[in-house]
Amino acid sequence: MRAEAIIDLSAIKHNVELLKKASGTNLLAVVKADAYGHGLLPVAKAALAAGATYLGVALLEEAIGLREAGIDAPILAWLVQPGSDFKQAIDLNIELAVASRLALKEISAASTSKKARVHLEVDTGMTRGGFLSEWRSLTSEDLSGVDVVGIFSHFARADEPGEKQNSDQLKRFEEMISHLATFGITNVIHHLSNSAATLKNGAAAFDMVRTGIAMYGLTPDFNTLGNSQSLGLRPAMQLRAALYLVKDVPAGSPVGYGATEKTSRDTKLGVVAMGYADGIPRIAHDAGIWCAGKRAPIIGRVSMDQFVVDLGPESKAQSGDWVTIFGNGSHGEYTADDWGSASQSINYEIVTRIGPRVPRIYSAHVY
Ligand SMILES: *Cc1c(COP(=O)(O)O)cnc(C)c1O
Repeated sequence: MRAEAIIDLSAIKHNVELLKKASGTNLLAVVKADAYGHGLLPVAKAALAAGATYLGVALLEEAIGLREAGIDAPILAWLVQPGSDFKQAIDLNIELAVASRLALKEISAASTSKKARVHLEVDTGMTRGGFLSEWRSLTSEDLSGVDVVGIFSHFARADEPGEKQNSDQLKRFEEMISHLATFGITNVIHHLSNSAATLKNGAAAFDMVRTGIAMYGLTPDFNTLGNSQSLGLRPAMQLRAALYLVKDVPAGSPVGYGATEKTSRDTKLGVVAMGYADGIPRIAHDAGIWCAGKRAPIIGRVSMDQFVVDLGPESKAQSGDWVTIFGNGSHGEYTADDWGSASQSINYEIVTRIGPRVPRIYSAHVY
């Protein structure tokens, strides 16, 4: 075995329960992008078993995958392209986000035998998806061909709880809800919060929260909100690999493409058979691995399929030994947050980009 991502489903359960409690409302488990790299189906099942009542995905094909696997919980897909097979979505009882009059028209046209269940997405200030200027010109006619079951929006800065944009967006959301009520549409699910808002902005909980990153046990932003541990979250993914090769290398040896670094002393280097094709960021040279109770930093450039670490002259490591690339940090190992920082990125991108060559292994107990 070369490498594996071990996914602790009991951590998912713990996090769902914690987030449900924190929000005091219903929870939609966000399982887009292969459940942030953790595996769509096992995570979806674990989240539902732990009390999530809805699943949320970006793409229609992700929602179809869940239905084909026999999941019958409510599913919302929020980035459904124009020209999609809306009939199939309706047949499969997949709920659709709608952000324009044109989309309403297209979905209404596909609602022949059964009306589509839609959530109206409104732009409250993020200026990405959602109705903005069209909201005021919306007519009952536009809405007559669909079954409106929800209205939602998305925060741009929920990970900065003190920012005024949060209260502005909340206020705008309430105004847009009131406007919808003028069509007689009142008894629908209102949802606004992502993970950060679920943890830090109780006033935005409404009827449901949509939690992604925190459900995987990762902090939405360790600088502004604190790390996983301080939030009571349990990281679900541990990425590990078996050392491909360990060898003694003399001082002054140039390592890797471009010879960007040299060994500073006689030392033992380890080769890990994972690279940027597996989602190890090429720019992450300030990260490394956890090997035999200590950190071993990356030396030289990350290649497509491999990278090299400096194990230190005293290391007793041998090829085949298992090392941790990132974990929950409780032993001193690097975390997804550390890899995010080392990559000028965020934990979201680290876990989501672990590639399909890395098998996901499910376990209730990792540590
Ligand atoms: C991805 C996403 C979420 C989840 O965000 P987290 O920060 O991971 O909790 C919620 N809502 C929408 C619309 C999203 O696209």
